[in-house]
Amino acid sequence: PSEKEKTSSVAKIKVVVRKRPLNKKEIAKKEDDIITIEPGCNSLTVHETKFKVDLTEYLEKHEFVFDAVLDENVSNEEVYHETVEPIVPAIFNRTKATCFAYGQTGSGKTYTMHPLPLKASQDILRLMHHAYRNQGFQLFVSFFEIYGGKLFDLLNDRRKLCMREDGKQKVCIVGLQEYRVSSIDTIKDLIEKGNATRSTGTTGANEESSRSHAILQLAIKKSVDGNESKPARICGKLSFIDLAGSERGADTTDNDKQTRIEGAEINKSLLALKECIRALDNDQVHIPFRGSKLTEVLRDSFVGDSRTVMISCISPNSGSCEHTLNTLRYADRVK
Ligand code: ADP
Ligand code: MG
Repeated sequence: PSEKEKTSSVAKIKVVVRKRPLNKKEIAKKEDDIITIEPGCNSLTVHETKFKVDLTEYLEKHEFVFDAVLDENVSNEEVYHETVEPIVPAIFNRTKATCFAYGQTGSGKTYTMHPLPLKASQDILRLMHHAYRNQGFQLFVSFFEIYGGKLFDLLNDRRKLCMREDGKQKVCIVGLQEYRVSSIDTIKDLIEKGNATRSTGTTGANEESSRSHAILQLAIKKSVDGNESKPARICGKLSFIDLAGSERGADTTDNDKQTRIEGAEINKSLLALKECIRALDNDQVHIPFRGSKLTEVLRDSFVGDSRTVMISCISPNSGSCEHTLNTLRYADRVK
C-alpha cells in the first residue's frame, strides 16, 4: 500500500495499557501482583481485595478491554511498535499526532515515554533521507513543561514562556526554542538535557516531575519550493506528553496552598484532556480545548487530521489498586 493508504488505516484514537513489573520494595513488602493479563490478549483483570461488614475478605474482579494491553515482559521496543511507529509516516502528510503517558506517579510514564521520541526521530530521519529525499523536509525539536498552568522551556534554562493565538486556530508559544536537528545524537542530547532540566527540583526528581506535564514536540517543516533560504512551514507534528501524576489531581484539599492550586490545575487539565479526546473521537466540530492550558497548547493537534495514542501506565501492586482502577476508568472513558 502507498504511504497515504497506510496512514489512513491507522485508528484516530488508540488506547494502550502498560503494566510495569513489581519493584524490589513491593516484593520486600510481600505485596501481591493484582493484575492478570493473558499474553497476547487485549484485556486485563484487576483483583481487588474488599471487606465485608464482618471484616471477612473477598475478591472483586474488574475486567477492562483496550486496543492493546502490554504486560510487564513487553519491551520499550515493542511499546514503540504498538503505539507510535504506525503513525510516523502520517506526519509527512500534514497529520498532527500526540502520544500521552497517563498514570499515577511511579507507574512507568517516564520510563515508557523517554525512548519514544528518540525511536520516532530515527524513523523520521530515515524517511527524510530515503522515501522523502530532496523534498525540503526538516526536523525540529522543542521541549517544554506546564507547571501550575505556566509554560517553561526545558531546552532554555526553564525560561518562562507565553502562549499566543494568531486568530487562525494557530497557537504560538512565544520564545520557545526550537532546534533543527539532522542527527540522532543531537536529538539524544536535547532529550537528555530537557529531562535533566525538568527534574532539577529541590524535592527530588519524581516529586517535582509528578506535578508537571512535559511536552516534547517533533515538527516536520517543509521549505517552500525546496528553497532553504525561505522560512519553512510546519507540515506535521508529533507530540510526546509525559503527563503529571494522575493522583496529583486529587491534591485539592492539601494543607499547603501551592499544592492545592497545582492539584486543581492538574485535575482540570486531565479532565479537559479526556473531554477533548472524546470530542475528537466523536468527530465533534467543537473541541473543548479551552478547558485548560494543556489542551489550549495542544489546540492545533486537535484540529484537522489528528491521531492520538494514550498509553495508560499501571502499577501492579495491591497498594496501588485504587489508583490503578482510577487510571483504567479514565482510559476507558477516553476510548
Ligand atoms: P512515573 O514517570 O510514572 O512516575 P517512572 O517511569 O519514573 O514512573 O517509573 C518508576 C520506576 O519504575 C523507575 O525506577 C522505572 O525505571 C521503573 N519502571 C517503570 N516501568 C518499568 C518497566 N516496564 N520495566 C521495568 N522497570 C520499570
Ligand atoms: Mg515521571
